[in-house]
Amino acid sequence: MSLARTWSVGLVGVQGAVVEVEVDLAAGVPTVVLVGLPDAVVRQSVDRVRAAVVNSGHEFPLRRVTIGLSPAAMPKQGSGFDLALAVAVLAAARVLPAARVGDLVLLGELGLDGSLRAVRGVLPAVLAAAAAGHRQVVVPLDNADEAALVQGVDVLAAGSLGEVVAHLAGRTPLSPHERGATDPAPPGPDLADVVGQAAGRRAVEIAAAGGHHLLLSGPPGAGKTMLAERLPGLLPPLDERAALEVTAIASIAGTLPPGAPLVTRPPFEAPHHSATMAALVGGGSGQIRPGALSRAHLGVLFMDEAPEFARTVLDTMRQPLERGQVTIHRANGSATFPCRTQLVLAANPCPCASAAGDTACTCSPLERRRYQSRLSGPLLDRIDLRVTLPPVTRAAWLDGTGSPESTAAVAERVLRARAAAAERMAGTGLSLNSEVPGRLLRERWEPARGSLALAERALERGSLSVRGFDRVLRVAWTLADLAGLVVPGPDQVAEALGMRLQRVAA
Ligand SMILES: [Zn+2]
Repeated sequence: MSLARTWSVGLVGVQGAVVEVEVDLAAGVPTVVLVGLPDAVVRQSVDRVRAAVVNSGHEFPLRRVTIGLSPAAMPKQGSGFDLALAVAVLAAARVLPAARVGDLVLLGELGLDGSLRAVRGVLPAVLAAAAAGHRQVVVPLDNADEAALVQGVDVLAAGSLGEVVAHLAGRTPLSPHERGATDPAPPGPDLADVVGQAAGRRAVEIAAAGGHHLLLSGPPGAGKTMLAERLPGLLPPLDERAALEVTAIASIAGTLPPGAPLVTRPPFEAPHHSATMAALVGGGSGQIRPGALSRAHLGVLFMDEAPEFARTVLDTMRQPLERGQVTIHRANGSATFPCRTQLVLAANPCPCASAAGDTACTCSPLERRRYQSRLSGPLLDRIDLRVTLPPVTRAAWLDGTGSPESTAAVAERVLRARAAAAERMAGTGLSLNSEVPGRLLRERWEPARGSLALAERALERGSLSVRGFDRVLRVAWTLADLAGLVVPGPDQVAEALGMRLQRVAA
């Protein structure tokens, strides 16, 4: 009998699943048989493995080679199984001691020359291996820092199949990889750069404090993009668990910045309005990849010129935003990615995007209305904060007096407000005002009766829906937290109502 076993990890969405790789050599016509639903990519992997084994100076067994990947029910996609297959084949052929590879997890794609190439999704793969009780993983050199983020696992980094074989044969041992010190992420753009725009600055501060979705309307040049880009800087840094979640998504998306294996700042994604559905919510051919919506998990998704996005795209985003996760279905399986994302929409007043008061605008009132109505409906209903920015006047530019507050100063207030909200919600599993369900909001944290009069009148008049009423309440609580109040008063309700009822700039 000539049987050997190693381990690798497949990915379903952002979850890794440990896969057992078994290789059996038997007498018979030389051939390779795959068992366990491997996809076309894994089939190609057999050809790479054969070339890599031969080019590393070994023989590929001229026997009947049966390769089994289990659990069989899990779809196995991607090229990350190459190294595990090669090592299992060499162990079955007695080139390597089978006992040394029986518990080992191996990740990485092989080049035809035997070089070991980086793959996506190494962080979630190593997390899964550790959770399954494995203590040692072999990864490509370029993935080593990322793999070493996982506690309790020895990471062996190799540049080629030859190095892995020399290690396992006991000739040249690989030593466990130590993660080098990484530079802290450079600071993002600062709020001190934003001139004027008191209403816009206030809106991003409230959005950051309560986790509210935000719509910024206004003419080009008013600073919508500048403000949106500065929102992540106002959010607290990611804690360890959140950082691992965000890093795992970036790893699968292939967007992990080199040299910075752990993402510690809330991400910022700004897809173009021509982006496909797959680019936005996830998909792609082969392995299902997270879209911008999930890459912005625990960060900010900025959709500039939001009315230009396809209506179907905007409508599709509504449910994932509500649920905090998105599931992408395919014929050969589905994948779920988290997307607890804060949305910032920006809209120009009209399709030609002329500055306000600019005589160049030739849009008819009907065209303007039609343009703005593209944003109406279910998605807009979920936006708590709607702010119209006036054009930046020459005077505001020239008036250098009173330098604008910096990101650091505003972030400190945001942190205090978030702490107050978290303290109030202790024991509920919630921490942000934007997350509080309507029922809980009305039953548990009711503001003084009189302070709601304005919102109640808007409800009676029909200018505010029941859902909208709850949204006003949530923002009012955030305003109270920012102001250091125990409960929102009439002023907070009035300000929240003003931001809810604001229409897209006409
Ligand atoms: Zn126009």
